[in-house]
Amino acid sequence: MHGTKILEEADRLMTVCNSCRYCEGLCAVFPAMEMRRSFSDGDLNYLANLCHACGACYADCQFSPPHEFDVNVPKTFAIARAESYAGYAWPRACATLFENNGVVITLIASLSVAAFIFGFSVFNEPKALHGIHTGPGAFYALMPHHAMAALFGAALLYAIVALAMGVRAFWRDIGEPVGMRADAPSLWQAIRDAGNLRYLDGGGVGCFNEDERPTDRRRIYHHLTFHGFLLCFAATCVATLYHFLLAREAPYAWWDLPVVLGTLGGIGLLIGPAGLFAAKWRRDPGLADQARTGMDTAFILMLFLTSFSGIALLLLRDTAAMGPLLALHLGLVFALFITMPYGKFVHGIYRFVALVRYARERRMTGHV
Ligand code: SF4
Ligand code: SF4
Repeated sequence: MHGTKILEEADRLMTVCNSCRYCEGLCAVFPAMEMRRSFSDGDLNYLANLCHACGACYADCQFSPPHEFDVNVPKTFAIARAESYAGYAWPRACATLFENNGVVITLIASLSVAAFIFGFSVFNEPKALHGIHTGPGAFYALMPHHAMAALFGAALLYAIVALAMGVRAFWRDIGEPVGMRADAPSLWQAIRDAGNLRYLDGGGVGCFNEDERPTDRRRIYHHLTFHGFLLCFAATCVATLYHFLLAREAPYAWWDLPVVLGTLGGIGLLIGPAGLFAAKWRRDPGLADQARTGMDTAFILMLFLTSFSGIALLLLRDTAAMGPLLALHLGLVFALFITMPYGKFVHGIYRFVALVRYARERRMTGHV
């Protein structure tokens, strides 16, 4: 007996697949499945988060619908994954935020943007919001740096703690000891597998999306989004070091490192999410968890809008549009931070943790 209906279904599919084993070369899920004869809830959540939804096993399966066995691994695991996100959420009361996630994120983003516009107007002359501010420290004419650092530092810290607690719950559920000794080779293997999205390649031919012709498009858009996000994060870290170590205040020149990193990352975060949205729009409904399309779309849209407002701010920072654009951008970034633990962002974290576990059990069973 399993905790939910979808885990019952995942167990049924894994039992069928374990007898068949036709897909064992496609991804990490099938070799991990073959290490087991029975599946606990934690095992199934682990396998679901190990799945990259490439669709290859659906396209290749002789038992997929309309066959009476009704084997649909990508869709079943997509639903199980989404339910696991809510199951691991911290604090528990926030698990419900995963339901109607699109609406929740839209509301929080709108309120955050409104709060920043209101705050800029109340703490400054309203005309400061529409004035022209240039040179080092121009952004802080609207909001002092210490207030900005405290606000965003607190939001980021909250997101990190909530995500860490979620990872702890996942790690426990899949049966790993919380205090395990650092396993550097497994960690390094997982970093490499996550960095090149190894299991989003459909076993080498590409990802199946709208039809049975595999392409690398979804993988490329994931790369642009993932590395765009990392570059933007690096830009923020470098800017923070500039401010505190070198006493150099934003905004920086076009050629300066934070701007170069942020611009490259921002371009990735425009093209990647737009491509993922187009792929999602065209995706075969038989492969997707359609009940949670809102969660995926809301996250993709948030990334796109955050990047779009950041690039618009860069282009128009020497004009009177700087104040409203800064309020819009900061509002979106703030909303992104505080909703990260309760939306699609977590799929990257749990998938990475599943890859660590996979690398670890492969090593422990002598497969590498
Ligand atoms: S998905 Fe289908 S073909 Fe692949 S292992 Fe399972 S039952 Fe076999
Ligand atoms: S959808 Fe792709 S990643 Fe997921 S189990 Fe099937 S082959 Fe593996």
